Formats: sequence, C-alpha cells, structure tokens
Amino acid sequence: MLDWSCLLGLPSDPLKDTFMLYKRVTEQYENPEILKKVRSLIPQDVILKATTKEDGNIIPLLKWFKNEFMKWIPKDPLCEVCVNRCDSPNGVSDSNSISSRSVASAAPIMQIKKIIIGDPLKIRKVEVFGCSVCKSEYAFPRYGEILKIVENKTGRCSEWSMLFGAILSSLGIKTRIVHDFLDHCWNESLINNKWVHIDSTLDYPISFDHPYYYEQNWGKNYEYVLAFSANSVEDVTTRYTQQWYLVQKRRGRKDKMKELREIYYRT
Ligand SMILES: [Zn+2]
Repeated sequence: MLDWSCLLGLPSDPLKDTFMLYKRVTEQYENPEILKKVRSLIPQDVILKATTKEDGNIIPLLKWFKNEFMKWIPKDPLCEVCVNRCDSPNGVSDSNSISSRSVASAAPIMQIKKIIIGDPLKIRKVEVFGCSVCKSEYAFPRYGEILKIVENKTGRCSEWSMLFGAILSSLGIKTRIVHDFLDHCWNESLINNKWVHIDSTLDYPISFDHPYYYEQNWGKNYEYVLAFSANSVEDVTTRYTQQWYLVQKRRGRKDKMKELREIYYRT
C-alpha cells in the first residue's frame, strides 16, 4: 500500500513513480505503432466476435486474453527446477516414492529474495525468487513498456491491466487504468458513453462490470481509487464502494485529489 504521508512533505518517490508509470503506459495507448503491433496479436476470430456488436463486445477478448494469451505469475511461484525433477521419470524418483513426495511438498514454493528497483519507464523492477531446496533462482522483470510485456506474456495485475488496456485501445475502445492503492489494478473502458469496470485477471462474468466485487469479496478498505489516462487522473472511488461514508472517514477532512492531480500533471 502506498503511504499517502508522502503528500505531507515526506519523500514522495513511490507515488511519483506510480504516477509516472501510469502516465507513460496510457500514453502508449495513443501510439499508433504500438497499437498496430498489439492489434496484430489478437486472433482474427476474436476480433470478429468482438467487433460485431455495436457497443464493442469485449467479452471474447477477456476470455481469449485470460485463457489463452497471458500467464499469471504468483507472488510465491513454484520452483520449476524442483517440479520438473519430480515430474521427470529419470529425475529424483517416481511420483509415488516417499523422497519424491517430500521434495514436492517442501520444494515448489519460491520465496522472494530481493527486489531490484529500476526505471519506471523501462524495467520497473526485477523480483528475484529463490528456492530453499535446490537453491535455484528465478528473476521476474516487470516492464512498463507495452511491447516488452507482449514479449513476456506474463505478469500480475499491473502487466495484465497495462496490456489489456492497450489491446482494447488498439480496437478503438477508449480505455484507462484504475489503481486502488491497496494491491490491485484493473481497467475501465468507455462503452456507450459510460466508463465500465473491466478486470482481465478475473473470470467472466466477474471480469466485466462488477465494480463492487473487490469490496464485497476481498474486503477492500478503499481510500482513493484513481483512474489514469495520458492526460488525466480521476477519483473514481464512488464507483467501487457501497460504503462511501467509511471511505470518507478514512480520508479524513482533507481531500487530496487537488494535490494528486497536480503531481500527476507535473509528472
Ligand atoms: Zn527448487
């Protein structure tokens, strides 16, 4: 969670870095060359299904993106070295043996060893995971460039929402990124002149127009939910909460939107 105390005179780099990232990412949504490449990724039958309805039916895109295109990297990934060893007939042993089971139960989960902070525009950071059993390491680079995410096709909600926003933009569907400053981000698209919640990381139908899902199911205690476009940052919290009075209580007396907007414009 970001520390809003940065607005009170303390170091504000995490907030600025986040703003910088979303600004540069959403600027890429307006770059014809990037959009052309992104559009070429979408299978023709998915494009046809997605564009046959007047309002731009994005459900086929959501299904293709989640089920066929992108891969999710959990915060505690499995160690592929240990998993492959257990799977291999010539490896440690067969899957029914005690030694194999003990390796499998102890091995697969990797722990984060370090996070190398980079440049918010290129490689934002590199997460280095280590396996306590085989000692192998796995480095997961996190990119801010859409075409780098395209190459990797892996990530968590930030990569998914950044790329899915580009995919929708490539089909002429105006899309922005929404961040809750707790631990999640998603998209909003302009459909029939209304911004609609879209979360490519979730299964349909939850992935489409279920704005209260996080508060109802994940117990989100929002303070600010912000929507980012290349030229604007907007407070969209009311759209995601049915407990506005609690959000207001958390915010206290001071509305920080004016300052947040100024930071975004200056970024
Ligand atoms: Zn291992």
